[in-house]
Formats: sequence, structure tokens, C-alpha cells
Amino acid sequence: MKADVLVVGASPAGIMAATHAALAGARVILADGDLDGEHPANTLFEGMARRVGMTVDRSLVRHSLKGMRIISPAGHAVEIPAPGYFLDRRRMDQSLLRGAEKQGVELLEARVQDLAWSGESRLARADGDEIEARVVLDAAGVDSCLARSQGLIPMRHPEDVAWALEAEVEHPGLGEEPFFEYWIGSLAPGWKATFSPGGGDLATLGVFVRRQGRAVRPFFDRFRRRFQEHKSSAYPDIRGLKILRVRTGGDPIATVPGELAARGLMVTGGAAGQSGLAYGMRAGQICGEVAGQAARDGDVSQQALSRYQKLWSKELGQEYRLARASMNTLLEMDDRDIDALVEALRDKDLIAPGSLARKALKASLTVAGARPGVIPALIGNLLRG
Ligand SMILES: Cc1cc2nc3c(=O)[nH]c(=O)nc-3n(C[C@H](O)[C@H](O)[C@H](O)COP(=O)(O)OP(=O)(O)OC[C@H]3O[C@@H](n4cnc5c(N)ncnc54)[C@H](O)[C@@H]3O)c2cc1C
Repeated sequence: MKADVLVVGASPAGIMAATHAALAGARVILADGDLDGEHPANTLFEGMARRVGMTVDRSLVRHSLKGMRIISPAGHAVEIPAPGYFLDRRRMDQSLLRGAEKQGVELLEARVQDLAWSGESRLARADGDEIEARVVLDAAGVDSCLARSQGLIPMRHPEDVAWALEAEVEHPGLGEEPFFEYWIGSLAPGWKATFSPGGGDLATLGVFVRRQGRAVRPFFDRFRRRFQEHKSSAYPDIRGLKILRVRTGGDPIATVPGELAARGLMVTGGAAGQSGLAYGMRAGQICGEVAGQAARDGDVSQQALSRYQKLWSKELGQEYRLARASMNTLLEMDDRDIDALVEALRDKDLIAPGSLARKALKASLTVAGARPGVIPALIGNLLRG
């Protein structure tokens, strides 16, 4: 099989990359080992979507959120009016794939095993097929080793991937709650435990934990018990909370994208440490545009493809560096620091529209023991997901 651009992985970044490479005039194949597979990420805040110029298709929204609630280890809570959505992720993926096909992208259900050179092209072996492409895009998620096998280091600080376990749960009325909840502290060291109401009786509960290995089930079990206790006055039968299914994966929130392009090779999405649905999709879009144009112009040199790295860096690089800095501050804070921080924020008028960051900065300065400056970064980070 031959293509100008082969995208490996139908992640949100991968589908966007394939679509935009095709829009730029390239012949594109999008390969995924399981095109009908389920992906965990489902929550998107309007601020993130706006930041990357994305319009949310309301027909894919299962439940609208009024905002987020940050909850400290002692149970202090602060509410932030950041509207968001719980998306029907299966329908979203299918809709994105149909959009890609409309632009001429050829879908291939196959797992790419390795890459080699064939003259000036890259040769991918995929479940018995061989695909020759001018450019290969690695969009195969945080665990992908395709780009790394070719000598690229697309993600810096991979030891800081937050390993996650997220469960789809069911309980009468639980999914109708209006706020997404971020629980921070030792319940989920290094990042967060989350509650995302999905409409009706459906919700997800998850833990995202750094530097404790991949086996995060004990953190999830502890969080589930804490959550049930916390909600018991609103839902007397919450002990009977039903777990429908469990998904695991890695969130590269505290990593930083590294080398994103080599000759005939590019990396996007989780594989490149570009975490988050909206931000990943925007990165995929930039990647696909550059790949498509380069293939069409017949120049897939590292220099030509590095335009993606430059454009991405200029638009979003600084936010990722800031996120990493704030995530590392979070890692250093103990439960008492976090309680003090959230308690102080609670008294401030964060609910008023506008100047959220200024209010947060003011609040942070009143917090004894907490590092000044962390709050704006932390809140910015929470808004990114
Ligand atoms: C449990 C969990 C919940 C999350 N929730 C949210 C959320 O609510 N909102 C948010 O913004 N972010 C969330 N995230 C962050 C997440 O990192 C991103 O949003 C996004 O889903 C990242 O996708 P990805 O690029 O890592 O690719 P993935 O979604 O992992 O997709 C990779 C794809 O590549 C395919 N693939 C892998 N290897 C190969 C191969 N060799 N050949 C062919 N195909 C292959 C896989 O089948 C898969 O379809 C969550 C992360 C986790 C782990």
C-alpha cells in the first residue's frame, strides 16, 4: 500500500492530523489496531476548546457542566464557574472518523509493528501489510514506541506520566450533578482524583497518580470509599454504587513535548506528551497541515517537517512548560498546604465573572506555607484538564 502520509493511531490528535493532511492535498492512510475501540477521555471545558479554536458539537454532549469544584483532602471546596461538557466519546470518535473519510482519508484496521526505510520512503509493517509512506505520523498514544524506535525523544520526563484508572459508574441521579470535581492531595499523589457527571445515572470516577507506578487500583479503591462517604447525605444508598467498566491509561499532563519531527517522521498527541482532548486535537491539526503540505511539495526533510515543532511551540509550548512547573509544585505540597490553599480560596469571590487569575493570585498570597504564584498556574492547569 502507498500513501503520502501514514497516521498511526486514531487518537483525537491522529484523526485531526489525518483529516488536515488530506485537506492539504495528501493521500492519507489512518491505521489503528482497533478502529472501534473505546477511549477514556470524555470531559472538555469550554475554555480549553475556545483556547484552541475548537467548536463543540452539541449533538455529542451527554451532559453540560456548570463548572468545576476543587476539593481539598479535608473536604474544603472551591467552585470555579468554568462551563464544560461530558461528551459521548464513542460517538465523538465515530463522527471524527466519518469527517476524516469525507476528506478522503483511507481507514485501515491494523496495528503497526515497526518502521524501516525503503529508499526515500518510510516502510511500515502492519499485521501482514506493508505500507510505504513519505511521512509517518506517530499518534499512537503515551505508550507508543514507534518514534522512539527511530531515535526521536518525543516526550520529556516520561517518568511523570500520571497513570490512571477511570471507572464508569451508575447510581440513580448521580450523573445529573452540575459540577465536575477535582480532588487533590494524597488521595491521588501528584495529580488528581476526579468525578465527572455524565447525565442521568451515569458518571465517571478516576484517579491520576504520578510516581507510584502503574498499579493505581489501591488509590482508586480509597477514592471510591472517600467519595461514597462524601456523597452519602445526598445519596443515602451510594454504597451500592455500581461500577460498569474500568479503563486504564496514562495522562502525560506533567511531561513536556520533546523532538516532534525527523526526516519523514512526526509525533503528535499523547505520544508527544501533548495531553488533553482539545490541546491534542489542535496539535494534530498543526501536525497534519505541515505533513500534508510537505508531502505535496515533495520535501519531507527534517527541516521542512520541523515547521510543525515551531508552530506548535509558538502557540502552545509555553503553557506546557507552565503546567509542568505548577504540577511539580503540587507534588511538593502536602495535604495541610493544600487544605490551607483551598480554604483561603474559598473565602475569595472566585465565582464572580472575569479576572479569575488576578483573584487567584491575590488569594495565593494570603496562604501561609503555600508557594505564591502556584494558584494561577494550578487553576490554569485544571482548566486544561
Ligand atoms: C483515564 C484517562 C482519562 C482522561 N480523561 C481526559 C478528559 O476527560 N479530558 C481530557 O481532555 N483529557 C483526558 N485525558 C488525557 C488524555 O491524555 C488525552 O485527552 C487524550 O485522550 C490522549 O490521547 P492519546 O493521544 O494519548 O491517544 P489514545 O487515546 O491513547 O489513542 C491511541 C490510539 O492508537 C492506537 N494504537 C496504539 N498503538 C498502535 C499501533 N502500534 N498501531 C496502530 N494503532 C495503535 C490505539 O488503538 C488508540 O486508538 C485522560 C487520560 C486518561 C488516561
